[in-house]
Amino acid sequence: MSVVLKSHLEGRWVEGALPAVQILDAVSGAVVASASTRGLDLAAALRFSRATGGPALRAMSFAQRGALLDRMAAAIHAVRDDLIDVSRHGGTTRGDAKFDVDGAAGTLAFYAGLGRKLGDRTFLLDGEAERVLRSARFAGQHILVPRRGVALHINAFNFPAWGMAEKLAVALLAGMPVLSKPATATAPLAVRIAELWVAGAELPPGAFSLLVGAAGDLLDHVGPQDVISFTGGGDTARVVRAHPMVIAHNVPVSVEADSLNASILGPDVEPGSDTFQMFAADAARDIVQKAGQKCTAIRRILVPAAVAEAAIEALVDRLAGVGIGDPADKSTGLGPVSSLAQQRAAREGIEALREGGAAVVWKGNAPETGCFVTPTLFRSDLGVDAPVVHDREVFGPVATVLPWAGSAAEAVAIVARGGGGLVCSLYSDDPAWAGEVVLGLAPWHGRIHWGSKKVHDQSPGPGTVLPNLVHGGPGKAGGGEELGGERGLRFYFQRCVVQGDRGLLDRVLGASPG
Ligand code: NAP
Repeated sequence: MSVVLKSHLEGRWVEGALPAVQILDAVSGAVVASASTRGLDLAAALRFSRATGGPALRAMSFAQRGALLDRMAAAIHAVRDDLIDVSRHGGTTRGDAKFDVDGAAGTLAFYAGLGRKLGDRTFLLDGEAERVLRSARFAGQHILVPRRGVALHINAFNFPAWGMAEKLAVALLAGMPVLSKPATATAPLAVRIAELWVAGAELPPGAFSLLVGAAGDLLDHVGPQDVISFTGGGDTARVVRAHPMVIAHNVPVSVEADSLNASILGPDVEPGSDTFQMFAADAARDIVQKAGQKCTAIRRILVPAAVAEAAIEALVDRLAGVGIGDPADKSTGLGPVSSLAQQRAAREGIEALREGGAAVVWKGNAPETGCFVTPTLFRSDLGVDAPVVHDREVFGPVATVLPWAGSAAEAVAIVARGGGGLVCSLYSDDPAWAGEVVLGLAPWHGRIHWGSKKVHDQSPGPGTVLPNLVHGGPGKAGGGEELGGERGLRFYFQRCVVQGDRGLLDRVLGASPG
């Protein structure tokens, strides 16, 4: 039965006017829900958050904000299986849904722990007081204080639970109220989680708002103390960044956008070795998991030309064993993409790769119905010059193998041709070769995942974003940065240096909390 999804604004559940956008089941095409933001007073919603949620959060210590996050994590954990069921309409298999839902609870719990560690303070010192003149009496102390606006979180469709929770955990711990806008296509899960939080997490009024449906005139009402954290397509990110009010108020915008993540098999790695198996498992998993709809998924697979056939064979072996079909079926490893719009975009991307000269080396059998996309492995021998391969992120179960001669410098040049990524994976047991690649690639990425024989059975894979490590990347990947433990809080703080008498600074800012 189809339900109308409500937004939670100004501390209450509200419904937009008709017509609403319909949300479809990715397998059957049936309408599962609808959402509208028409007529909702978004200016008032932001005013309420700033006036009510902000002061309440800022009055709480980090430990108290952490306790709030603990309650939010517990609320998810208590009904984990129900949430997994809710997410089914978006084409997610049980394993994919667990990845999303458990990731949400885990990230909230991690930041709850950080809150306990930061303790009774309400703001942070940024380093120690610094002497600025010859006299030790006049000093400068940098502090980090929560901004007084709203953290607007605009999320992508692919992780409705984790995407919402990972942004929100950091902002709430920093002391900023959040307005979260899930992508409409997979909003039902975000709404269900929001209902749990509102009903059972003892949130201060205005600390958390949810906007379900189109963004409408939301950005017309941003102000100088607000921040925006966006995840989605690069084109939408440009629209957000270029909004006149965002520009007028210099609103900080953090963007996670398109990313053509690469994987590199080192020339020292023998086919069949543990490091080789790790490489093949990670690359195949990223084609299959979430039907390739992960911002961190490997799109370009660099293999030394000498072992290209062995590498392709290892990948195809793994892919061919994956069951494709209805995610409700336990044997299914690869479900549909989440919506007709995503299916269309992925199919167009596959066609563009083909027209660009990439050769299909394997494709699976996907059902003709629903939002399925044929999983496809391409090969291109054009390296840095391969058209389309380095430019177009095909957001589906698709990757391209790029055989190359094996030099570190050339590997760096080919990967960098993607214009900046979230994560690059590298598989090698040769420290000299790998070291050159790591330092060559670091400026182009937010994270490098280095697989080798000693960690071959211990790694979560490059696609897993961990709350204590940074997530983001330069250039095409958006230029944003999230998470990274305490580092992530910085986006929601204003850094201010207070200069004056050291004794007074100590008394007001130092050991005494808040
Ligand atoms: P999208 O179309 O860019 O949408 C992302 C979010 O922006 C959604 O919540 C969307 O709302 C909202 N939005 C759309 N227009 C807006 C506007 N004018 N002002 C404010 N918000 C607006 O992205 P998507 O459909 O979720 O994914 C599309 C592509 O993004 C993927 O194909 C992939 O390339 C990329 N992606 C990247 C990452 C990453 O982290 N790097 C993650 C996921 C996706 P509605 O849903 O209501 O339109």
